Parts: sequence; structure tokens; C-alpha cells
Amino acid sequence: MESDGDTSPPRSPTAAPLHACGAGHPASHSLPTSAGGRVCLSCAAALLSSAGAASTPSHHVAHALANLSLALADPAFLRPLRAAHPRLLAAPLAEALEGAADRRDAALAAQACDVAVDLAAVVGSPADSELVARLARVLSSGSLVKHVHTLHCLGLLLNSTKDAAAYIGDKCSLVLNLVNDLRLPSDEIRGEILFVLYKLAILNATPWDNICEIGDLDLLAIGRSLLQLSLEVLLKTQNDAVRLNCVALLLTLAKKEPFDHLLISNQSSNNCIEAESMQTDYMSLNASLVLFAEAVKGSLLSTNLEVQTGTLDLIFHFLSSDANICALLQTLIDENVADYIFEVLRLSGNNDLLVISSIRVLLLFARLEEKFKEKLAIGFSTLLPVLHYVAEIPFHPVQSHVLRLVWICMVNCSGILSLPQEEQIACTLTAILRRNVNGELDMSSETFILVCSILIEILKSPHAHDIEKLPSFIEETSKYAISLTLSHECDSTILIPHSLLLLKEALIFCLEGSKYIASTKDLEDSIMGTCGTILLQWLQSAVVDGNDEETLAEILQIFQIILSRASDKKPLKFAELLASSSWFTLSFGFMGLFSTDHVKSVVHLVTSSIVDRVLGCNYGETIRDAHIYLPSDPTEMMYLLGQCSTEDFNLASCQCAILSILYACSFYNERLCANNQILASVEQYILLNGGNFPYEINGSIMLTLLVHLYAFVRGISYSCSIPHSPEAENTLFHLIIHKDWDLLVIRVHSVAIKWLFQKQEIMEPLAFQMLKFCKTFCEDETVMLSNSSQLVDIQMISELVLSGETTISSLLVSLLDQMIKEGTEDEVFSVVSVIAEILMISPRSSDQFISCGIVGSFHGIYCLPYSSRSRTVCSYLIFNILRSANASTFGQEDEWLPLALKLLEFITSGIDYTSSSQEHKIVVGILCLVLHHSSSEFLIEPAKAIILNSSLVSLMDVIVNKACVKGPSLFQHNQETTFGEFLILVLLLVFFSLRSLHTILEASIDWQDFLQYSDDVQSFSVLGLPCHDLCRLMHFGSPSIKLIASQCLLELLTRISDQRSCINAELRCSMGYLKSIIAVTEGLVFSEDSKVAGNCSACLSVILGWEKFGSQEKVAVRESKWLRLIMEEFVVALTAPGLTSKSFTSQQKFAANIAVSLLRLSQVPDWLTSLFDGHLISGIVANLCARNVTAEIVNLFSELMARKYLNQEHIVDLHNLFQVCRRQVYEGSSKAPLPEQRVEKVVRSTNDVLASLFALMLNQGSDSGTVQAEQQRLLRAIDLFFQESSRREQQCVTAPSPPQRQGTSTRLGILDQDRAAGPVAQA
Ligand SMILES: [Zn+2]
Repeated sequence: MESDGDTSPPRSPTAAPLHACGAGHPASHSLPTSAGGRVCLSCAAALLSSAGAASTPSHHVAHALANLSLALADPAFLRPLRAAHPRLLAAPLAEALEGAADRRDAALAAQACDVAVDLAAVVGSPADSELVARLARVLSSGSLVKHVHTLHCLGLLLNSTKDAAAYIGDKCSLVLNLVNDLRLPSDEIRGEILFVLYKLAILNATPWDNICEIGDLDLLAIGRSLLQLSLEVLLKTQNDAVRLNCVALLLTLAKKEPFDHLLISNQSSNNCIEAESMQTDYMSLNASLVLFAEAVKGSLLSTNLEVQTGTLDLIFHFLSSDANICALLQTLIDENVADYIFEVLRLSGNNDLLVISSIRVLLLFARLEEKFKEKLAIGFSTLLPVLHYVAEIPFHPVQSHVLRLVWICMVNCSGILSLPQEEQIACTLTAILRRNVNGELDMSSETFILVCSILIEILKSPHAHDIEKLPSFIEETSKYAISLTLSHECDSTILIPHSLLLLKEALIFCLEGSKYIASTKDLEDSIMGTCGTILLQWLQSAVVDGNDEETLAEILQIFQIILSRASDKKPLKFAELLASSSWFTLSFGFMGLFSTDHVKSVVHLVTSSIVDRVLGCNYGETIRDAHIYLPSDPTEMMYLLGQCSTEDFNLASCQCAILSILYACSFYNERLCANNQILASVEQYILLNGGNFPYEINGSIMLTLLVHLYAFVRGISYSCSIPHSPEAENTLFHLIIHKDWDLLVIRVHSVAIKWLFQKQEIMEPLAFQMLKFCKTFCEDETVMLSNSSQLVDIQMISELVLSGETTISSLLVSLLDQMIKEGTEDEVFSVVSVIAEILMISPRSSDQFISCGIVGSFHGIYCLPYSSRSRTVCSYLIFNILRSANASTFGQEDEWLPLALKLLEFITSGIDYTSSSQEHKIVVGILCLVLHHSSSEFLIEPAKAIILNSSLVSLMDVIVNKACVKGPSLFQHNQETTFGEFLILVLLLVFFSLRSLHTILEASIDWQDFLQYSDDVQSFSVLGLPCHDLCRLMHFGSPSIKLIASQCLLELLTRISDQRSCINAELRCSMGYLKSIIAVTEGLVFSEDSKVAGNCSACLSVILGWEKFGSQEKVAVRESKWLRLIMEEFVVALTAPGLTSKSFTSQQKFAANIAVSLLRLSQVPDWLTSLFDGHLISGIVANLCARNVTAEIVNLFSELMARKYLNQEHIVDLHNLFQVCRRQVYEGSSKAPLPEQRVEKVVRSTNDVLASLFALMLNQGSDSGTVQAEQQRLLRAIDLFFQESSRREQQCVTAPSPPQRQGTSTRLGILDQDRAAGPVAQA
């Protein structure tokens, strides 16, 4: 090789003249370089070929290689090389490599290797194939100890050369030589050998690939040798590259079927020829397995990811082969390889490749469950983060694997899991399911099944109840699992059993009870919710399109667990839910669709539990007893019911079950057959079997059910007019009369009980039942009320009474009569209490009881020496009846008179007004009500008896005298004191008596008698008080006494006034007497109690009206200073600024009334005339607005107008104002709510009695005081004003108007100064 140093400018290569080298080689071998030099290929080849010769200095060779290396990167050189001499350099390079090896010149060998690889890369074929062929030949024989670089080079070439194996001459020799030299101690060589072997294996160039005539080659021996040697390499080396090559080789070989059998499958043959193999110098199988186990450990802990995954894949490959792998597995486990894999996992940082490879291997280990579980227990804590990791990735390839490992661990060694671990697992699994809520099942079926199974394992674990959050996780997961599998469209048939099993275990978990009660309760509610919705819907759709018997049975078993729970209201609620979701129809649908005995018995079991719950009394037992004989078709059931069963015990118990089912159906509006068919079967049953129930079944309990069922069927048939059999009815009535049964013991349909209580024939037994009811009610009122939906209760009875379609009210009254005659006081008390309670619930039923003659029964009660308790209850009942009954039902007075006399006798004989006992006070209240009704002309005779009862009158006198004597201290005797309460009652009696007198004794009464003093205590022969006593009580009494007394005084004065007008009588009292009445009433016009004030102002108006009767009265009226003061106060208030913002107080209303009365006097006082001057009226009119106009004010202006106090301007203003008022009332009333129906409140205490009597006293004129009544009065007053004004206008047209009144300067009054300064004067 030479370079001529030619410096001439570059010429194009094609035009370059051919230069020969100094050695006379052909010019064509001399190739140019782009630097301008030339390279003679022949010289270079010769130099390289001689590299092995001692005579050739190695630096020459190195120099040549360096130049060649540069040239190979030079396109100018490369182009002709490729075109003309592609093969020329291959052989010399191979020789250079061999030569360098012979010289043990590693640097030169490495250089030659690089150039050879470069050449193969840049020239390609045939240079590369030539190199492969030559190098392979070199490596096929002799020791490889010096051939590291040759091996390396071949390896690289095998990697890069296309179809490289084809150029290797003797592959078998090469492989044998390579295998043989794996024994060489150098890691480097072994690594290279392994790589070449690996490449050969990849290229299918090993003897196991059938690449050559095997001849006498012992492939088995070679294979074992290779395996053993490479495993030893793997065991010894610390070099990851070596490990990588080794693992790669083994994995590639292992995938070749013939080789695969080497390690494992010859186990069996090994067993057979054990003796022989013992003699060979190969390792025993066991030793080689141990070697394998030992060898992989180092690689597993390598820091190189490829080594680790390769090793894991190698193990996986061996373990997943078809062969019997038990021995290998056992050895690997014994040699703790599993621990290493867990360690890999622990350090993996969730590297996905490592996770996948490790988990796959671990799952294979799990095949040998017994041995592996200990390892699993140790590695379990490592598994949990992995579980969490794979759970987060949908469809992660080893998601189900990890779950399976967790599940295996839980099943085999549940004890090792800690509470936090179990909680964490539950949390992770919940997250998996939660992700699927809205979509399709985005996990494998296996994953879903394992999730359910693991959760079930957790639920079953002994300390599951200590995991605080478990109930809430299970609540969520069970809901998701069920809704994913049962309500989803996806085909999830294989998943359904698992989600149902989870639900069932969760339910059992709840029933076991837990220390976290609240969350367990939530879980239970959620499960019941799921059952009541999704599962029930599934059942309903199953009847239409179902073919899944297994699921049906599973669901029904879950229902059965819920229903058969011992305590709690939840099972009842659930039974009600099922029953009201057409359970009975559904159940026959199931039995029709799945006609197996299993389904039939499960369905009947659930039905029996439902019947137990909704009917009570263990009626479900009848179904459980008979379920094997029960038909699965309703028509057949009806047929069986209509048979005679006296000889057939099984049939008889079937019939009991059928009766129970029919009865349960009746409450949920379900009909298994047509009504007439049911009636016919029940009738036939009664006719053929009477009341003969199988002796195992409680006869009275069954008879009760039969009675109720028959009554129900008859009740519903009645409305459809289905014909019935009178014979069957008679038979049943006979049973009812003669046999033992109990109306109250089971739930009863209102249709049934109504029908029963319409039948006169069975009144006697029903009366007996009612007496039992009354007794039970009194003993345990609360229990009866709380179970109201289940049994006959007071609510049901009172509704039946109110409906008026039954005989219950007369039955109760006759029962009461009977008890008064024959029974004990307790029995009377209980019946009275029940009637009282019925009135509590529906006061309107009073009328019915009166028309049934209850008043006579009351008389009977007061004739007997009963205790105060019974009398008190009875008195309240009488009071309430009198209060709520319609007056027209009092027509039969002859019943009331004896009762009234009896009550009067009772009250006058034993009354003690210092006692706080209730019973007499209520009786006084009753007398008040009798008098009240008499003022509407009912109960006249009893009222007369009361009013004219001399004992009562003297009692009243004593009490009133006692009160009047007390003077100012009377004020303390209010309703809360015994005396005050009694006094109030007596005064109320007086009030109602005064009102009643007018109606019943009008003709014979001289009302002015009440205006007299009398020394005689017995001055009156009737119930009533003179005015001065009333005034005294008004003056000194407590607010309630003031109210009643003023009400009485008003009543009296009105009556006197009416009578005087009628007969034109002179006033018989003294001036002083009249003046004192005026003084007392004036004093109370400003009372805080607006009702008292109203009464007093009305009294004053009445007395003012007497002015026209005579001079005496005129003087009395005129001398009153108070009236003037009242009026002046009044006008100040009316003209005060700011009036517009508030409406009138009631005091101003009363003052307006007094003003009207004053203006109506025949001679209006001068002070009043001067008070209402033009200015003042203008001020008042200006101050009014539509909102504060009341009827009283309008009346006042009407009167002022009539008396000509108003000028035209006033009238026009008021006209406009009142028009506005009228419009507002009309608009307002269309929006105003309708007057509320007055709710009758039933009386239960003396306070109630008093309140009720006060209400009667004040509401005498119907519904005064309501907004509507006020508005009506206002409209009426406005109409009167308009009438008056138009009348006046007509007068004006016909006659000249009188001169307008002018404001006078002669003002009287205390208020002059104030007014001069006030805004009114300026206006
Ligand atoms: Zn040459």
C-alpha cells in the first residue's frame, strides 16, 4: 500500500488515469480516496493476510486497518470497491482477525473486528457472507480461548447479515465447539459464545433445528451439557451482558420443542432410567433443577431491567409448558425463588414490564397451592401496592392475576391479613367497580368474579365487623355489582350468581350485627332498597321472558333471609312492599314458568314468610306445612278449596294454606281468580267442611280468618251483586255464634268488618267481640293505636260509625245499656271510653249515638253509685255530644229531661265549691250547653228545669254573694283558683240562663226586676243576677269575670230596653242606681280587654237610647262628665297626624258608637255640637284614607250627615273615599281565602270546657269578628251612608238648604290650648 502524495487538482474518478502500485498490482486494484490519495487493495489484502506471520510488524497491520477504516467511510473509495471488488477484502480481514488472535494481540484483533464489521455493513453481500463463512470456519474447531474478538465479530455479523446461517459451513461443529468452550473460565469469552449461540438459535441454526445430519451426535447429551454449562455461567457471572445473553439463549432454545423437553419432560423418562442416568456424568434432574433455581436468582436481582424481565420470562416459559412441571415448581419454591420474585416486585416501582412478568410467574407458582401459600403469605404485603396499581388501569393484562393471588391468599391464610389491609383491599375493589357505574363492563369477567369473591372473603373474615368502613364499601360495591349484572343490557349471565352471592353475604353480615351500627344499618337499608327495586324488577321481567331458574332461586333465597329476620319492622315493610307489588300473581307466574320442585318450594317459602308478616299469627305456617301438596295454579287451588276434606288430612291442610293466601291477597287488591269463583269456592268449603280444621292448626285462629275472608268476599260481591248461597251464610253464622273465634286477633279488611257489622243475625257475638275490643282498648290504648294498620282499631271503628252504614253505634249503645244492667263498672267505663274516643276522632257521630238512645244510657249511669272516674268520663262524653250534635237531633226531649233532673240532683246534693274536683264543674258545663240549645228552642223542658231549680238558684246566690263580699280582692280569683273557676262557671250558667229566659219564659218575665235592690237573698226564682251585682263583679272581678258580667249586663239592658220600647214602661230604678251603672260602664270603655270595652260601650249606647223615655234618664245622661271626656279623646285621636298609617283601635270603634248614640239623643249636648265643628270634621276627613275606614266611622258620618253637621264639600270627599273603600273590599274579597271550616275541638279537661263555653258566649251572633264579617258590616254601613246622602240631596232639591254651620269660637274644653297649637287648628 502506498500513497503517492499527488497534489494535482482533483479530477473526476472516471476520468482518472489508472495508476498501478509499486508492487505491480493491477491498476484496477488501486482505488482513489477523496483526499486525493489512493489505496491499493492488493497491497492491503496482502498485508492483512500476513497479520499472523511473525515477520509482519503488527503496527503495519494496524496502520493498514486504520487507513482502510477511514477509506470505508469515504464514498470515493467505496463506490469502486462495491462495484468492482466487493469480495476482495473479506478473506484478508478474516485472516487478519485470525492472525491477531494467534498473536494474542487484542488491540489488533479488536481493530480488525471493527473493520470487518464496517466492511460487512458498507459493502453488504457478498463481503458479509464471505466473512461469516470464514469466521465460522475458524471458530468451528480448536480452542476458542484466543478468539474473543472473532466470536464478537461473528456475533455482530450474524446479527447484521441477511440469511447469515446459510453461509456457515458446518453448523453442528460450530455449535459443538461453542458449547464445549463454554467451560472456558473467561466471562468475556463465555459472554461472546453465548451471544453467538443465541444468534444461531434465533437463526434456527442449532442441531435441534434439524439443520444437519445428526449422525452419531447425542443431541440429548449436547443439550444437557449446553444447559448445564449456560446455567453455571448464569450462576457465576456478575456481568449483566453475559446474563442477558445467557437468558436470551436459554429462552430461545426453550422455545424450540425438541430442546424444551430436555430440562423438564425427561423427568418421566429420567425416572425410568434413573439407574442409567446415575451412571452418566451428567447431573441428576434434581440437581439441574436446583442449578436452574440458583442460577436465576442472581439475574432476578440484577439492576438491568432486560435481564430481570428475561429471567422472569424464562421461568414463565418453563412453568407454562405442557409438561409436568411439578418438580420444577417444587424446586423453585423450595429454593425460595418466589421470595426473589416478590423482591423484584417490591423494588419494581410498578414498572409495568416487571409487574406483568412477575405476576404471571407468581400465578403459575400458585398452581402448587399448598407449598406456595406460605410464600404468598410472606409476600402479600408486596402484592397490595401492585393490586392498587393494576386496579387503576382498566383491562390491565395482569389485573385478574393479581386479584386471583389476593383471593388465594385470603382463602388459604385469612389470618395473616391485618384490618387496615382488608380495608385497603375493599377500598381498591370498590374503586374498580365504581369506575364501571355508567358504562359497559370495562373489566374482564374474571376480574369481576374475583372482585366479588374477595369481598365475600372479607365479609366472612372473623374480624370483618371491626373494619369501620367496610359497611359503606360493601354498600357501594353490592349496589354496583347488582346494577352492572342485573339491570344492564350486557350479557352477564355468568356474573349474576357472583353479584347475588355478594349481596347475600352482605345481608348476612348485616344480620350478624356490628359495632358500627349506623353504617351497618345504612348497608342493610341499601340492600333492601336494591332488593325492592332491581331484584324485584328482575323478577317481574322474569315472568315475561325469564329462563334463568338459578337466578330466580338465588333472589328468592335473599328475600327469604330478609323476611325471616326475627325482629325489627324492616321485614314487615319489605313484606308489604312485595305483597303490594303483585307478589301473589308473580309467584304463580314463577311456578308456571319453572315447573321444578325446587322453584315451587322456594316460592312457597317466600309466600309463607310474607303471609306471616302481613297477617301475623303464624298463618304462614299453613303454607309451609302444605307446600308440597299445594298446586301451582290458582284455578286448581280454587278447585281444591271446594272439596270435602274430612277424610283427607293433606287436603285439609292444603285448604288452610289456600285460605291464608286468599286472605292475604285481599289486602293488596290482588285477585287470583274472579270474585264469583272465589266466593263459590269459599261457600263450598264452608258447606262441605264447616269449621273442621286439621287438628294441628289452631281452630279459632283459622275460623277467624275464614270469617274475615268470607265477610270480605261477600262485601266485595255485594257491590257487584254476585249471587250468594244463603245456606253457606247460615252455616257460617252458626259457626260465628257457636264457636270460638276472635275478631280482634288478626288484621281485618274494612270491607269485611263493615259487612259483618251490617248483619243483624250475629249482633250478639259481635257485641261480645266489641266488649272485648273496649276492654282491650282501655287496658292498652297505646298498643292498639300503634298497630293501627294491622288490627281492628279505634280509627277503623270510628270511620265505620261515621259512615253510618253499620250498626256499630246502636250496638255500642245497647252494649252500654246491657253493661249498665248486668256488667261491672269497669265494663261500663270501657264502653263509655271507646264511645268517647270515637267522638274524639269524628265528633259528627254524636248525632248517631243520640238517635241510638245513648241519652237514656247516661241517665242509667248517673243512677248508679259509680266512681268519680266513670262519672267524669261520662260527663265529658255528654258535654261533647251536646257540643257537637246537630240541634235537630235533640227532638226527643223526653230522654233529656230525666237526665237533666238527675244531673241537677247530682250537682245540688253534693257540690262543694271549695273542692277542686272536676266532676261537678263539667256537669255545670253540661247545664250551660242545655241552656244554650234552649235559646234555639231545643231542649226547652230540661232548660226550664234548670232555670227554675231553686237549689241551683240559691247555690248561685251564695257564690255570687261570696264573690261580691270579697271586694277588690276578687280580682285575684281568676280561672286558676278553685273559687274563681267555679265562679266563672256559675256566671256562664247565668249568662246562658239570661239568654234562654228570653226564649222560654219571655211572657212571664219583667226584666226591670233585674234593676232593683232587694234585701231578700231569694229575690229571684230563676237563674239570673241583678244589674248592681253584675256591676260589682265587673268592677272588681278578674278579666274573665269582667267579660262574662259585662256580657250579662249587656244582655239584660238590651232585654229591658226591648221590653220598655214594647210596652212603653217607665223606668223603675232610682237615678243613683242608673248613674252607678253608667259610671261602671264608662270606666270600662277603655278596658284593655276589647271585648269588655265593646260590651260597656254597647251598654252605654243602650242607656243613652233611654233618654227618649223620660226626664229622669235625660238628667242622668247629661250629667255624665265621662262621656264628654271620651268624645274629646276620640276626636283628638281622629285628627292626630299619622292616623293614616294605622287602622283604628277597637277603642276608637267603641267611641264612634257612643258618638252615634249621643248624636241620636233628642237633645244633643251643646259640648258635642261645638266639638264637631266644620274645621274639626274637615280635619278628620282629611285624615281618613281607605285603609282605616271602619263600619263604625262610616256610621258616625252617616249620623253626622243626618244631623246636618257635614257641608257639601265633606260629603263629596266622603263619597269619593267610600267609593274607594268599596272597590278595595270587592277586590280584596276575591283574593281572600274562604272562611275556614271551624274545627270542632273535643273537650278533655275543665279548661277545654271553659274555653268552649266562652267561645259559645262570644260567637252567639255566628261568625262575627272574622275579616269577612267586618267587611260585610263596612259595606252595609257605606250603603246606608249613600242612601242617606241621596235622600238628603232630594231634600235639597225640593227645599232650600239650611244655612251652613260655622265653626264657633265658643269652644268648650279642656283641650282648647292643645288644639290651637296642633296641626288641626291650622288646617
Ligand atoms: Zn499493490
